[in-house]
Amino acid sequence: MKTIVLERPGQFTLTDTPEPAGIAPGEALVRVRRVGICGTDLKAFEGKMPFLEYPRILGHELGVEIVEIGPNDRGLKAGDLVSVEPYLNCGECIACRRGKTNCCTTLKTLGVHTDGGMREYITLPIRKLHKSDKLSVDQLALVETLVIGAHAVRRADPEPGEFLLVIGAGPIGLTVIEAAKASGAEIIVMDINNDRLNFAQQVLGVEHAVNVADRPLEQVREITNGDMPTQVYDATGNLQSMNNSFDYVASGGKLVFVGLMKENISFNDPEFHRREITLYASRNGTASDFKWVIDKVESGAINTDPWITHRAPFEQMIGQFNAWLDPASKVMKALVEL
Ligand SMILES: [Zn+2]
Ligand SMILES: [Zn+2]
Repeated sequence: MKTIVLERPGQFTLTDTPEPAGIAPGEALVRVRRVGICGTDLKAFEGKMPFLEYPRILGHELGVEIVEIGPNDRGLKAGDLVSVEPYLNCGECIACRRGKTNCCTTLKTLGVHTDGGMREYITLPIRKLHKSDKLSVDQLALVETLVIGAHAVRRADPEPGEFLLVIGAGPIGLTVIEAAKASGAEIIVMDINNDRLNFAQQVLGVEHAVNVADRPLEQVREITNGDMPTQVYDATGNLQSMNNSFDYVASGGKLVFVGLMKENISFNDPEFHRREITLYASRNGTASDFKWVIDKVESGAINTDPWITHRAPFEQMIGQFNAWLDPASKVMKALVEL
């Protein structure tokens, strides 16, 4: 079967690999129909993923069709279109035992720590497949991306009308915005890039936009009538932004780190205490987040139309991948079609 292998940083090859030999109990054989490309894939290509080993088959944002499946209690059968939860967890560690499968102590992400979906067929655990009768394969491949924001927002659980600040309007910040919109919160988006702010306002319908270069604290204070936002999400993965994000949280409010970076974060403890800030990290998502996103896309609460900006047939992906690295190409989501 056709497979795209990332042999080493900067070099993909289109090659032939053996088809899966069969399915083990609890597994399904699926045909890959769509693979979404995100920052993780771009970093892997550029050699900037510290723990990624080469050669590696990328692909963790998958819309697939079930080809072969044994008896199961999920109501899944051959021919069903499903989204794939690519976080392979052990089921036994302290996190798994408490339902926090997204931060399993030995978590392996498909297409990052193990070979992923850039191939015609793959076998997967049945419990990692999430079905929709309404979503297209394009939409199913977008679910994993949207889950990143959904998990963050569902952790902090905003109420309708609550002021919510999203710092960073890149792809991850936009998934936070999509989930936050579905919650009915009043959203403020902050970024350094006016194109990104315009996109968030004009295409995603965000109420308020603040450029971080222009008196950001004062602007956010004015928008919130002096209160400041009760929920702040940092999706920048930028040290300075993450350190400064504490300043934006209302007294009694919550701060969620969606983006991550390598260094230590520092903040002023008396201020942290005075406002009794609740600080969350958010990592990946759970089966329940996949169901939540699928529900929201099915109901139209999340519109996926603006998300897909680029496409390539499987055989042509290698030739087009370089262009997707260029910020000028304005890739939000590129889909590879099989
Ligand atoms: Zn991704
Ligand atoms: Zn585990």
